[in-house]
Amino acid sequence: MTTSPQPRPNVLAIPAYVAGKPPVARPGLTSYKLSSNENPYPPLPGVLEAATEAAAQMNRYPDMGSTALYAALGEAMGVPVEHLAAATGSVGLIYQLVNAFCEPGDEVVYAWRSFEAYPIAVTAGGAASVQVPLRADGHHDLDAMAAAVTDRTKVVIVCTPNNPTGPAVTQAELDAFIANVPSHVVVVVDEAYLEFVRMDDAVDGIATYQRHDNVVLTRTFSKAYGLAGFRVGYAVAPAPLAAALRAVSLPFGVSHVAQAAAIASLEATDELFARVEDLVERRANLVARLREVGWELPDAQGNFVWFPLGERALDFAAACGEVGISVRPFAGDGVRVSIGESEAFDRVVEVAARFAP
Ligand code: PMP
Repeated sequence: MTTSPQPRPNVLAIPAYVAGKPPVARPGLTSYKLSSNENPYPPLPGVLEAATEAAAQMNRYPDMGSTALYAALGEAMGVPVEHLAAATGSVGLIYQLVNAFCEPGDEVVYAWRSFEAYPIAVTAGGAASVQVPLRADGHHDLDAMAAAVTDRTKVVIVCTPNNPTGPAVTQAELDAFIANVPSHVVVVVDEAYLEFVRMDDAVDGIATYQRHDNVVLTRTFSKAYGLAGFRVGYAVAPAPLAAALRAVSLPFGVSHVAQAAAIASLEATDELFARVEDLVERRANLVARLREVGWELPDAQGNFVWFPLGERALDFAAACGEVGISVRPFAGDGVRVSIGESEAFDRVVEVAARFAP
């Protein structure tokens, strides 16, 4: 009898990642992709130039130590370079966290629904997901998450703002949570949408990790910095944790094009953050217009809004598709719409009015 190679059983159990789809072209209509929480702005000329220059070295491997990027990040944030770990997008860091801290069967606690890569990375790493339901308003239930920690828990992830529902935790809530979690458990604060947060008592990630030996911040150039296609994220963490994350990283995982673009972006934060400010304004306008047509949405602190549509999620997404807009539906739960081109919002509001609760 012949046998074929079999992946580990957990590999067969990995859920599929459903990426946001591009819009289907409709005759006479400009179409818009609001399905992946991307930054709608085109690259800054200086960033594109730096990336193009780096691309001329494509026959060479990148700097595996990301030396210049760490120096630029360290200076920008006022942290030592030993506290940094770069990765192929911040999603790469989730894999590295599981790989570095979990034995097979160890538990990773996170809210659900949240970023869909969490169950994928946890399962791929042979660990077990413990998903703690969000509150009805889309916030993390941090008390329930702390209560879900067991002897097998090695990592807990706080996604703030939460993708896809939008609310962020406050500093006071985060402090209380960290105090409730044993100090040998890694507390990951996923700050992918950090730059879009506008609220009182917002989390100061840097001050927080500096106060604790078990806190890891994960951040990305994909959203506020508009580099989603280049795949560069980083962790800020106490030195031993950052070293563990670097140890399990994919060698040469951050290309020199990505490193150069990220460094050029750090030099252009004034321009980039002005764009973020504009997106935050667009978000406020959209939320206000949606309120006028009958929608009270969860607090939107990221570059997206969340419609808790339940069983109507797929119908809503199809209606958006018919008017040339792709959005991200989660069947039976809701629809996430990214804050992209404001020209698309009339159509979003028109569809939302038809589906108002
Ligand atoms: N964390 C959260 C909460 C996200 O929503 C995303 C992207 N959708 C990421 C991490 C990963 O982003 P990237 O890998 O592009 O840095």
